[in-house]
Amino acid sequence: MEKPVKDARSGSERDERKAGRRTVNRRDFLRGMAVAGGAAFLGTPTDVEALHDLSGWPDRMGMLTDLTECVGCRSCESACNAANGLPAPEVPFDEKSVFERKRRPTASAYTVVNRYGNPKGSGNPIYRKVQCNHCEEPSCASACPVRAYTKTPEGPVLYDKDVCFGCRYCMVACPFYAPAYDYESALEPKVVKCTMCHGRIKAGGIPACAGSCPMGAITFGRREKLLKIARDRIRKFPDRYVDQIYGEYEAGGTSWLYLSGIPFGELDFPTNLPRKPIVENTKGFLSAVPLVLTLWPALLGLCYAANRNKEEKG
Ligand code: SF4
Ligand code: SF4
Repeated sequence: MEKPVKDARSGSERDERKAGRRTVNRRDFLRGMAVAGGAAFLGTPTDVEALHDLSGWPDRMGMLTDLTECVGCRSCESACNAANGLPAPEVPFDEKSVFERKRRPTASAYTVVNRYGNPKGSGNPIYRKVQCNHCEEPSCASACPVRAYTKTPEGPVLYDKDVCFGCRYCMVACPFYAPAYDYESALEPKVVKCTMCHGRIKAGGIPACAGSCPMGAITFGRREKLLKIARDRIRKFPDRYVDQIYGEYEAGGTSWLYLSGIPFGELDFPTNLPRKPIVENTKGFLSAVPLVLTLWPALLGLCYAANRNKEEKG
């Protein structure tokens, strides 16, 4: 078995990358509300921006997690917490009892590793790292009424807390249950999730989890290159892998790709996702919600924005 590389970029690809687009800031949002009228603005959500033509971003980056390499050491969790200034975990990183229940990302853990039994009967459990998959056409971005999400040309999907007013539609829209809500910040609504270490990528580095994995289970590089690496491994080692790269097509494709030795459904990956982006469905999401439900978070958002303005002036 070849030793997987952690950074699949060529030297020139590591150069600093150009800045992603911000879609809208708080001031733009409030200005939009004033011009269009709050209720009218929020009652016509079908103007959600069509997302991007990704063919113009051929160099967007991705991550390839090879689940057959992961040993569940949680070094990636530890590195993620350190890189993002997150608190110490509830269960220490070297404590195996953490695997007794399945976890999902939270406001204090943007990535978590879960353990599964091995149906091949080899005795070795299988570990699955979970985080935002940085979709090619992110439904979180499509569902967000104030466009707090941006798909960057580099690949990561970023969230802008200064725009968010806490409606949490993105959490409902995400097919991978990735965004978490920071309940500690009742007056500062905040959704949190993995950023794929966008700042590090822009500076020519690699995401913290990929850099920390002692097994080389996480490879960072151009998505197109990662797909070739993954196909190559499946071709060379057909007994080791199922013939599928999870994330190549699911929900229109994701920046995070996976290889596995057992069917993905046995590892709690959603296997009923369409191949086309879910964006098309979430565009209509808000219009399918009763008006009162649409307006309520909007009104809360206005109250929040007004309070923030007061605080900023005071
Ligand atoms: S995995 Fe969820 S939160 Fe991450 S980009 Fe996709 S839809 Fe958005
Ligand atoms: S650091 Fe690597 S081997 Fe350790 S849990 Fe994370 S992915 Fe698995």
